[in-house]
Amino acid sequence: MKTVVSLQDLVDADIRPQNLLAEYYVRLERDVRAFWARAQLHDVTCPGCSRAETAVAFERFGATYRQCATCGSVFVSPRPDEEALVSFYRTSPAARYWRDQVWPSTEATRREKLARPRAEWVIEGLAEYASTAVAGLDLSPYGGPVIEELSAEGKRMTAGGWLADIEMGSSSSKIDVRPLRTSSIGVVSPVDFVTAFDMVDRAADAPALFRAVAGVLPPGGLMFLTASNADGFDLQVLWEQAPTFSPPDKLNVLSIDGMLSLFGGPAWEVLECSTPGLFDVEQVRRAVAADPTANWPGMVRRLLARGPSAAEDFQEFLQRHRLASFARLVVRRC
Ligand SMILES: [Zn+2]
Repeated sequence: MKTVVSLQDLVDADIRPQNLLAEYYVRLERDVRAFWARAQLHDVTCPGCSRAETAVAFERFGATYRQCATCGSVFVSPRPDEEALVSFYRTSPAARYWRDQVWPSTEATRREKLARPRAEWVIEGLAEYASTAVAGLDLSPYGGPVIEELSAEGKRMTAGGWLADIEMGSSSSKIDVRPLRTSSIGVVSPVDFVTAFDMVDRAADAPALFRAVAGVLPPGGLMFLTASNADGFDLQVLWEQAPTFSPPDKLNVLSIDGMLSLFGGPAWEVLECSTPGLFDVEQVRRAVAADPTANWPGMVRRLLARGPSAAEDFQEFLQRHRLASFARLVVRRC
């Protein structure tokens, strides 16, 4: 299994404008509290290893995060079902604010610094493991730019994310726009590969989602995923204060063990599991700066006091040992 380390020239603020984000989180909290209060919620087992033994970790926006006693994944339970979540993403004022304000303000940078590298990663992975692959299905919540990049590379793409029609309209005749649910993935003709960027985190039922995906991938078919990693340094240090733990975007924050369990059955082989995340130390630095007198671990203070080159070295260490909070996986259908 491959573990890739990469330090890209990427500035956090370019893709996450802090002033718009602060406003987004205010709106999100209001909407999520109202949503959770009226939605039908049901308990779930660990979305990584499927075990039932968990303990309450903390609460965010009225939703309860629990931690799996076996694999350490952190996830929301109880939670709404997929249809209610899709409706929230399509209609809530916070989701609209994200689409209308936050997303456009960073679109150019995201395209260059996120979409292009992700498309290159997929193209390289296909060249290495499935060189004849042409037909792809994307299940990402905001997959548009990557889909367009892959289409430009000659791949025949289906945009199957929850919001694909809202995001992409009917602008491109080369891309089949078809928003799917877990239950409708099976109606898609078999594809050579699937991309699911930041989708594991949002899935109402992650094991069911990937069983459905397995149904449209022939043996040898590949899936490319990105996800948050519960083992990540900033998440472990900041814990309930980490902005990442926000429902409903992050219903499932799997640990590395959780991800390897999720794809550990006979249907899948994990080809790559890496955490090329860049922002762990920066996130912690920002939290410490915002609340300098809090009871931060002494080691965290020492690390931050050492300056940028120590931070960079440490971030690379986190990547090498899968302790950065952004993960990516390539899995192959067996
Ligand atoms: Zn677990």
